[in-house]
Amino acid sequence: MNRRDAFPFLRNHPSLVYLDSAATAHKPDSVIEAISQFYTHDYGTVHRAAYRQSLHATELYAEAREAARRFLNAASSDEIVFTRGTTDAINLVAKTFPFEPGDEIVVSKLEHHSNLLPWQMIAKEKGLTLRWIGLQEDGSMDLHLPLTSRTKLVAITHVSNVTGGITPLAEIVKQAKQVGAAVLVDGAQAAVHLPLDVQALGVDFYAFSGHKCYGPTGIGVLYGKEERLAMMGPLQGGGGMVERVGLEESSYEMPPLRFEAGTPMSASAIGLKAALQFMEQRDPAHELKLLDLATKALQEIEGLRILGPLSPKAPILSFSIEKIHPLDLASFLDAKEIAIRSGHLCAQPLMRSFGLEHAARASFALYNTEEDAFRFGEAVHNAVKILR
Ligand SMILES: *Cc1c(COP(=O)(O)O)cnc(C)c1O
Repeated sequence: MNRRDAFPFLRNHPSLVYLDSAATAHKPDSVIEAISQFYTHDYGTVHRAAYRQSLHATELYAEAREAARRFLNAASSDEIVFTRGTTDAINLVAKTFPFEPGDEIVVSKLEHHSNLLPWQMIAKEKGLTLRWIGLQEDGSMDLHLPLTSRTKLVAITHVSNVTGGITPLAEIVKQAKQVGAAVLVDGAQAAVHLPLDVQALGVDFYAFSGHKCYGPTGIGVLYGKEERLAMMGPLQGGGGMVERVGLEESSYEMPPLRFEAGTPMSASAIGLKAALQFMEQRDPAHELKLLDLATKALQEIEGLRILGPLSPKAPILSFSIEKIHPLDLASFLDAKEIAIRSGHLCAQPLMRSFGLEHAARASFALYNTEEDAFRFGEAVHNAVKILR
């Protein structure tokens, strides 16, 4: 069953076929109402004052952290750091993880730029070496990890934002543990589609964004194992993250507050909690059915190439069609009120591995309908007739 009716944006755009949820998802009433309720009834500064409105707002913020803990099944809510999003979370780890010159970081060629540039930048700054996990013929990850005794961290996506392919994390974690390396997982695409349990996965860090999970922009979560976070210094100095401040030296709060300098994005955290609750109504089979319908419709097209393996995958369909530029295709579909992505999809090294510069991408969420998949398939067929 689709949940289109629960989304005011989609009610206000009744003929829109929105197939770009892998970039950002729309928000249900419950999320918008939770934010509005907070500002209109419960607002106050967090962690700072003794009056009841501030104490109440502080409680609501703590409840949001607890909701994120439960969503990830982390052992403690002290392992949940609120960030601006996945990008912010990965940069936080890159800049505060205790790397020494000569250490190595293993990254895959499937990564979104957000799980690639922070490592490149810190490698330059601290004299670290990046080693690459390549791809197999079908565009899935090669599971022979280039680990050495100097590998300190493996940074890997859980679900590719291009292929939708699901990384076998258990295998990655097993290999990384053998050399004592930490594993950081980019969960930006996985959090909205897969059930998560960071303890069962055995990962050290897990990052995701609220806005791709039907939540607000400007909020994300970094899960970090307690013993890992304890070894990491603060990135920003400011209010809320200090214990005792002297003129020359100060001592810092324990995680997670150590990493949350300044007045926190409390309203977004409360909106995120509502989004995590909303996701309890997820129906992965519905989304995979739409993926299947769309895939089958495209497979009749001559010169079609689907990027990555067909299964197991999240409901993301990236493709190219011979002699048709993805940008032309996306513009053609836009004229029919169908929104898809086109371009390098924030994963240029992966595109290059496929020998492409651009691709088109349709991604499905719980508000999409069979009618959406049908209109998409039909419109791509028409585009091929007209544009070729
Ligand atoms: C979207 C995305 C990111 C970046 O998320 P932001 O919300 O833009 O910080 C990182 N990795 C993957 C796989 C993504 O899809």
